[in-house]
Amino acid sequence: MSDLITVQGVVLSAMPVGEYDRRIVLLTRERGKIAAFAKGARRLNSPFMAAASPFVFGNFTLYEGRNSYNLNHAEIRHHFAELAKNQPGIYYGYYFLELCDYFGREGSDEKELMNLLYVAVRALMNPKISLRLVRCIFEFRLMSIEGWMPRIYECISCGKQLEEGDRLFFSMSEHGILCGECGPLPVDAFRISFAAAAVLQYIAGTPMQKLFGFTVKDDLLHELENIIYEYTAKNTDRKFRSLQILEAME
Ligand SMILES: [Zn+2]
Repeated sequence: MSDLITVQGVVLSAMPVGEYDRRIVLLTRERGKIAAFAKGARRLNSPFMAAASPFVFGNFTLYEGRNSYNLNHAEIRHHFAELAKNQPGIYYGYYFLELCDYFGREGSDEKELMNLLYVAVRALMNPKISLRLVRCIFEFRLMSIEGWMPRIYECISCGKQLEEGDRLFFSMSEHGILCGECGPLPVDAFRISFAAAAVLQYIAGTPMQKLFGFTVKDDLLHELENIIYEYTAKNTDRKFRSLQILEAME
């Protein structure tokens, strides 16, 4: 039985295959993003019925076949089944899964991405924090994990530390913030408030367990959305299906 491995992971997607099976995509610590077959997962009494579903975090024992992995045993840690009742929260969740699928790679340790997904999905079920803010935080922290962090601590041109009261500009093409003293500004530069810059710094730098522990006023949220949604769209080259559903709902 040397071909059995156990991985810690989360199910990103589950597709029906044949009459009774499912093909799942897992994001894992040990193997990165991998696909596995869950035989019989669509049979009513199958132990895989619950486990081979999106948002399930747990330990998955897999049999490593010649061309694919096969699910052998699953121990569910968290399933977030109650998220399904939360509209439109569930679509934010699917969007996060799609983003993880987009950035996840086979063979790399995806622990940080898994942790981000876990705290973000939990935040979707917290009525005290707006879904739109959860999305902003998720996207921007994801950008920072994946190496797409813009420069937000100092002016990208002169290196001056940002301070309260500065006139600041954000440039998508230059990946960062410029101070008002540095001209000429790139054509795509637009004003960013010091408060928004401070929130971006907080999202990028705070420990994961504190990430969703704050809220912002509406105008600041609106500003963050304008920056982060566009920044994420510019640094991904796919139109995400769940995002299109979300946008249609709004
Ligand atoms: Zn400057």
